[in-house]
Amino acid sequence: MSEKNGTRHPETVAAQALGWVDEATCAIVPPIHVATTFEREADNSYRSGRSYGRADNPAYDQPERVLAALEGGADAMLFASGMAAATCVFQSLAPGDHVVAPRVMYWALRGWLAQESRLAIDFVDMTNNSAVAAAIRPGRTKFVWIETPGNPLWEITDIAAVADIAHRAGARLAVDSTAATPVFSRPLSLGADIVMHSATKYLNGHSDLIAGALITGEDDAHWRRLKTSRAQFGGILGSFEAYLLLRGMRTLYPRVRLAADNALELARRFARHPAISHVLYPGLPEFPGHAVAARQMKGGFGAMLSVRVKGGEDAAIAAAGKLQVWKRATSLGGVESLVEHRASVEGPDTPCPRDLLRLSVGIENVEDLYADLEQALASLPLPGIGGEGWGEAASTRWIR
Ligand code: PLP
Repeated sequence: MSEKNGTRHPETVAAQALGWVDEATCAIVPPIHVATTFEREADNSYRSGRSYGRADNPAYDQPERVLAALEGGADAMLFASGMAAATCVFQSLAPGDHVVAPRVMYWALRGWLAQESRLAIDFVDMTNNSAVAAAIRPGRTKFVWIETPGNPLWEITDIAAVADIAHRAGARLAVDSTAATPVFSRPLSLGADIVMHSATKYLNGHSDLIAGALITGEDDAHWRRLKTSRAQFGGILGSFEAYLLLRGMRTLYPRVRLAADNALELARRFARHPAISHVLYPGLPEFPGHAVAARQMKGGFGAMLSVRVKGGEDAAIAAAGKLQVWKRATSLGGVESLVEHRASVEGPDTPCPRDLLRLSVGIENVEDLYADLEQALASLPLPGIGGEGWGEAASTRWIR
């Protein structure tokens, strides 16, 4: 096989999957390797360096190289899910190690961490660098975990500042960059040590596979421990899923840019809608994390936003129930737009307000997306709906 790479732009790297061409057949797409085992030589060695599929699946080679290139990392690893990727990082820690994690983060990982009795965990406000610094336990803190923008309030963490705080304490920084994607953010270039993705979302982009990924800045002893962990715990991706992921990543840049343009347009319009009290989107200048987001995200602010509906939980659920273009479904990052009443999913401990609808904006025509939401909101029995109150800015009292 041969590859052309050099200094090409990420759009080119993604679209051509690093310019892979099979030397024997001239095929421009890698084959789907399904072998679980690899032959030894007569002298008992492994000529290919591979022995068993759980550790050495060749179907991962190309998608992992593409991901490492897009994130500017030294290496990448695919997993069976985003949760398998994230928990692999925590399982590499020793009993009693301390971790600082966000108060607002992907709820299932927060739930897993909260009951992980092997580790000491503090959940802090990651928008506040002083709170992060105060939570560090010198000598004991081994990892700071952040998610930016943070699901589902889309709070922004200053990656470079938190990397500095973590490194001064001898800890590593891992960033869940699922919502930002490498299109808008490259955390390794800002000082992070590990980047994590739920590849189920934007990297694949078509809501048809579950996958996860880690990318490292350094191919060091810690990374090799994580690799051994993946092989031992066995949270590995299937070969066909690895192929689908590679195919999805080829269109990452145009998909994500179009979805983010749609999200920005919707956020601007909803900031003036009489049925909406708050629009949570880092691309709005009045959003508290906007200045940091504008500094560390390049070319856009992502395609996730949340709105808080006047009239509370019942009004939010009723509005979602009237939608015809948007699909009422969990997850995010697909080409189709999804809406979800997030508090219904996250349960009583959630920091998510009960009047919040989370919107995963897709690549449909933005006028169809807006018109559908507008007709749903217009059906709510709220004062000021139906023409009155337009132009009044949504509240700038944000959630903390
Ligand atoms: N991180 C974020 C930000 C997510 O939104 C999700 C899933 O929704 C995950 C991690 C977990 O990924 P997966 O569902 O692929 O296990």
